[in-house]
Amino acid sequence: MLDHVDRQVPLEACGLLAGKNDRVEKVILVRNQAQSPARFVMDPYEQLQAFDWIETNGLDLLGIFHSHPAGPETASMTDIAEAAYEVVYLIWSRPKSGWQARGFWIANGRVTEVSLQIIE
Ligand SMILES: [Zn+2]
Repeated sequence: MLDHVDRQVPLEACGLLAGKNDRVEKVILVRNQAQSPARFVMDPYEQLQAFDWIETNGLDLLGIFHSHPAGPETASMTDIAEAAYEVVYLIWSRPKSGWQARGFWIANGRVTEVSLQIIE
């Protein structure tokens, strides 16, 4: 996922996180149709294919990730306005030299940070 995020710079990258019981088992990269450094719109065809794959494999959609190559570290106004799913929004940003990922729960215009745990 980080590799993909890094390769898309200066554009925002995006994709889906699927798994079971709050544990991500699969990262699905989706093309950013907006091809923008400040915005992402998932390619609808790829997104549909990804949803199909998740369902076929008996997994749940747990999260949506995207990057902010030029900041901010948290959800933007657009992210809040466009958050359509009850999932964790994982945002990659690079406040200093390297990338970091932070997770947010966005519901009814309110943003709550959630803790992420990396499991091998
Ligand atoms: Zn964003």
